[in-house]
Amino acid sequence: MPDAAEAKARVLELTRRHVAPHRVDVWEAYGTQLVMDRREGYRIWDVSGHELVDVHLNGGTFNLGHRNPEIVAALIEATERYDIGNHHFASTARAELAQTLARLTPGDLCFSVFSAGGSEAIDVAIKTARRATGRRRIVGLGAGYHGRTGLSGACGEDAGARYFRSDMPDDFTKVPFGDLDAMGTALAPGDVAAVVIETVPATYGFPVPPAGYLRGVKALCEEHGTLYVADEVQTGLGRTGRLWGVEAFGVQPDVLVTGKGLSGGIYPIAATVISTAAAGWLRENGWGHVSTFGGSELGCRVAAKVLEITTRPAVREHVDRLIDRVGGGLDALREREPYLTEVRQSGLVIGLRVDHPDGAVYLQQELYALGVWAIASGFDQSVLQLKPGLLLSDELADRVLERLEAGLRRAKEADRPVPSRHARSPEPA
Ligand code: PMP
Repeated sequence: MPDAAEAKARVLELTRRHVAPHRVDVWEAYGTQLVMDRREGYRIWDVSGHELVDVHLNGGTFNLGHRNPEIVAALIEATERYDIGNHHFASTARAELAQTLARLTPGDLCFSVFSAGGSEAIDVAIKTARRATGRRRIVGLGAGYHGRTGLSGACGEDAGARYFRSDMPDDFTKVPFGDLDAMGTALAPGDVAAVVIETVPATYGFPVPPAGYLRGVKALCEEHGTLYVADEVQTGLGRTGRLWGVEAFGVQPDVLVTGKGLSGGIYPIAATVISTAAAGWLRENGWGHVSTFGGSELGCRVAAKVLEITTRPAVREHVDRLIDRVGGGLDALREREPYLTEVRQSGLVIGLRVDHPDGAVYLQQELYALGVWAIASGFDQSVLQLKPGLLLSDELADRVLERLEAGLRRAKEADRPVPSRHARSPEPA
């Protein structure tokens, strides 16, 4: 049996050779070369045995913890009766999940199209809006991230799509976050099918939307016949303290996209939930969009369990208390440690800005050494994303806060060049 160090070196070598060499290099440069081994609740272990509290959660995928026993049990139970299923036909598991989503989402969001991931679910939202309006143009935020398939990649930050020559500048217009005038100008010609917008832009570092901004965007959409597509992949499923982030900001979307945590971290599934008015294509074209794995029956049973746990009164009460506990701790920390310049809190969706353009990468590294895994924002390396899970215990929350203080004290001494995860890619060669 190779020892842990050898085992880790082997995985990294295989990854360099056959999977993603640049990733290995970047994590090496950051000093956070994690290879996940055991995982349980909100604790994960590197193959070296190093233990970490997970407050990255892969964007909320592990919102209810790693290998949550109730979710694992739901999956096992489902395998006793179901498999992926045949996507051509009606299915009990899929129909019941869609009914639950219609009940739990705001307004007349009524129809669900299921996908295997968030990017694909955003593609479905874009296709839906185009079909419903007969228009082609999509407006997104320059600071948005909606995935890396063709359409989803083109509607967020530009560099990623340009890198693969998948940008579509004629069809996708970008506006700055928080700027209602720019949004008004983009929508004014009346040719925009949809605004696709994260409720709190994750990869940009979770800036809290200015008061009235999202409601203003929605009002502009109504004025110009444009659909409002809420990307709730990171802000849905209780993470803001409300079941959906749009509820926290008083917006009624025409289409809502959820993913990541809907999977329970166990079985891939995402959903595009569509208003009755925008769902015309589902009434006229049963095979307008198809996906073999989207809406797999196992995934549907897992997602149903995720929604059941997330909406339990006891869980919601715990989340309310956790939001206060973490928020109070962070405010006190900001008073004591001026290197922490800004706490951006929308419930358990939190960005911590520090006083250096790459400071969140230094903080990420210090926290890693101290036993906390939190990730720096891809588009803004001065902001650390802090994403405590819904079921995080008080003890682990306090441990994270304590280590954050120690991490900040160490990180503020650092000043060295580091690479960027989301390369500000040059024009394609
Ligand atoms: N939207 C947002 C806000 C996301 O954070 C992500 C994933 N990081 C996606 C969409 C795409 O989801 P997926 O990676 O499952 O395709």
